[in-house]
Parts: sequence; structure tokens; C-alpha cells
Amino acid sequence: MKREEHTANEAKRKALDIRYLRMAFIWAENSYCVRRQVGALIVKDGMIISDGYNGTPAGFENVCEDEQGLTKPYVLHAEANAITKIACSSNSSLGSTLYVTASPCIECAKLIIQAGIRRVVYCEKYRLEDGVALLRRAGIEVILITTDELKAATAPIKP
Ligand SMILES: [Zn+2]
Repeated sequence: MKREEHTANEAKRKALDIRYLRMAFIWAENSYCVRRQVGALIVKDGMIISDGYNGTPAGFENVCEDEQGLTKPYVLHAEANAITKIACSSNSSLGSTLYVTASPCIECAKLIIQAGIRRVVYCEKYRLEDGVALLRRAGIEVILITTDELKAATAPIKP
């Protein structure tokens, strides 16, 4: 492959990553959590195969925080919801890319590794970086796209 082609492919991939991440941000708006809204998408072979946002398990009340305003211990993170949704389907997350609006925590990082996800694209940095470190240790490609990059990206993708 020529160098220019390689650069063009890289630019196209970055543009797609940015678009999916923007969609994950829109999806985060579904969350009824007050403290923090997080959205996730799982993409495989150019298709969105799952989605998730942080919230309580199916059948529970749509309230994430207790009277003190603290997040309830049974609230699932967006990544966990997206991954477990695949477990309930006939699809497979093997070899997929996860888009998530915040950097994954260590608990979600474990699930991401075991789910066979190969790439993780995220935006905001979480206060702890141990999740991202664990993903890298497992050989998963981890890409940070900054909020500024998201805001700047409005140009259409060329075919
Ligand atoms: Zn998490």
C-alpha cells in the first residue's frame, strides 16, 4: 500500500471513530443517572451490534442515586450494559470495537478483555486510569479522542 493511501485510510478511520463516539454521546442522553451520563456502542464489521448507557438492571426503578445522592451499588456501567446485551443475543463481541464516552473503569476493563473486544475508543478521562492500563496490558488498542477533536470534527467523510 502506498504511503498516501495508508494516510488516507488512517484519516478515514479516525473520522469514523469520531462519528461513532459522537453517537455514543447522544446515546448517553438516555441515561437517567443524575451524577454522570455515559454511553457506549459496540461496532463490528461496520455494524452497531450493541449499545448501552449507565443505569439500573432491567426491571429495577429508573433511579441511579440514593437519598444521599450516591450512585447505587447495582447501577451498571454503559460498557457492562452493552456487553451483557450481546450475551443475551445471538451476536458475538469477538473482534469488535467499543466506543465509550468516558474511560473504562477497572471492572469494565475486565469485561472488555473477556468479551474479546479488540479496540476501545473513548473520550473523557476518568479519575483513575487503571482500567485503560489493564486494557493496554491485555493488548487491546486504546484510543483517546479529546473533546476538542470531537468539536472540531464536522467535515464529511469522503468515499
Ligand atoms: Zn465501568
